[in-house]
Amino acid sequence: MRYQRSSALFTEAKNYIPGGVNSPVRAFKAVGGDPIFVKQAKGAYLYDEDGNRFIDYIASWGPLILGHAYEPVINAVIEKARKGTSFGMPTEIETTLAKLAVTMVPNIDKIRFVNSGTEACMSAVRLARGYTGKDKIIKFKGCYHGHADSFLIAAGSGAITFGSPNSPGVTQGTAKDTLLAEYNDLDGVTSLVEANEDQIAAIIIEPVAGNMGCIIPKEEFIHGLRSLCSKEGILLIFDEVMTGFRLGRGGAQEELGVDADIVTFGKVIGGGLPVGAFASRNEIMAKLAPEGPVYQAGTLSGNPLAMSAGLAMLTELDSHPEIFESLDEKTEHLKEGFDNVLRNSGIDYQINKYGSMISLHFTKEPVIDFASSAKGNNDTFKKYFHGMLDQGVYLPPSAFESYFLNDALSYADLDDTIAALERVVPQLK
Ligand SMILES: *Cc1c(COP(=O)(O)O)cnc(C)c1O
Repeated sequence: MRYQRSSALFTEAKNYIPGGVNSPVRAFKAVGGDPIFVKQAKGAYLYDEDGNRFIDYIASWGPLILGHAYEPVINAVIEKARKGTSFGMPTEIETTLAKLAVTMVPNIDKIRFVNSGTEACMSAVRLARGYTGKDKIIKFKGCYHGHADSFLIAAGSGAITFGSPNSPGVTQGTAKDTLLAEYNDLDGVTSLVEANEDQIAAIIIEPVAGNMGCIIPKEEFIHGLRSLCSKEGILLIFDEVMTGFRLGRGGAQEELGVDADIVTFGKVIGGGLPVGAFASRNEIMAKLAPEGPVYQAGTLSGNPLAMSAGLAMLTELDSHPEIFESLDEKTEHLKEGFDNVLRNSGIDYQINKYGSMISLHFTKEPVIDFASSAKGNNDTFKKYFHGMLDQGVYLPPSAFESYFLNDALSYADLDDTIAALERVVPQLK
């Protein structure tokens, strides 16, 4: 049996860990079957406990943009670990990484490191509320900003996959301060703002969405949000946990030519270790403790191992910006290959791509928001996922997730993936 040992490990894990996993999407609930247990990984390849090799298209959900076990990152972490793993006191490397991040990303003066994207978004909203003195926020259906209470309202990613976009345990009191809008619908947002005059602290958005598949913002929508926020004294929060240091040196702000007021990071900024961050201009960051009254803290924040991984990663990306172009070209190659295979297959599909983010949806209509993404045929997706898995290609185990390409993928790997799709297509009908 191809996945025998993984299945046994999953059975054992379920005895001690809820659902056998420490993050829901890993459990394969949306696609059926048992998850693959990873033994190790190198470059573009994952190796599971049964000895199977997979070409990896999730890269730990984004962080490993240069591939698994990337030498400069691994070496930096090992060297740091020998000097102690945590102090709860300031270290020089925190400033070094902060300075590098601030030089790479437009429009931010200061940055605060936390341990996850969830913490980054949760703290960014608190800061926005503290700064503006207003309570409500607007978020978009299908966008995911981590699992803090205020975001589990029509949330994307695992929350939609498991049919609990509105999680039990989130109080009515919290839910009433989160207003919902449709992605790519500026009129809808404008009406919400008008109906809640002077009550909205922030609009938070994935500037290129990746948690309902990959969804590209329309130009007039994203620029319109910026104008609306400026006009109404609302802070625009770009959740760049996925897009930051992936779409380019300066992330989505730079690629889209839109300045946000607060930017959140995670994933790539930690190089594969647990790091999140939020950043803004001096005037706003001055409200944050210990400089200002908005409280935010963390025992392991700025952890030396995490900082060393992040620094090694960002240093590579900063000194080789051509990596982003290379990733974009590889993703385009995959898109064209998939298009060629699917075009005359009789299967309804859409491919959305932005930079090194891409997703395939089994639907006829363009996928531009949560509603159109949810129209995708999940039975076809399941067959596609398992078919590709059996061909040695690891894709996100849910139709509501973007793939994340890593630069260790070779053109031969991409062509193998396209050839795998060609073999899987007959099973999809
Ligand atoms: C992954 C993700 C988060 C949450 O980050 P965690 O590190 O999983 O807490 C928040 N926002 C976006 C856009 C993400 O993709």
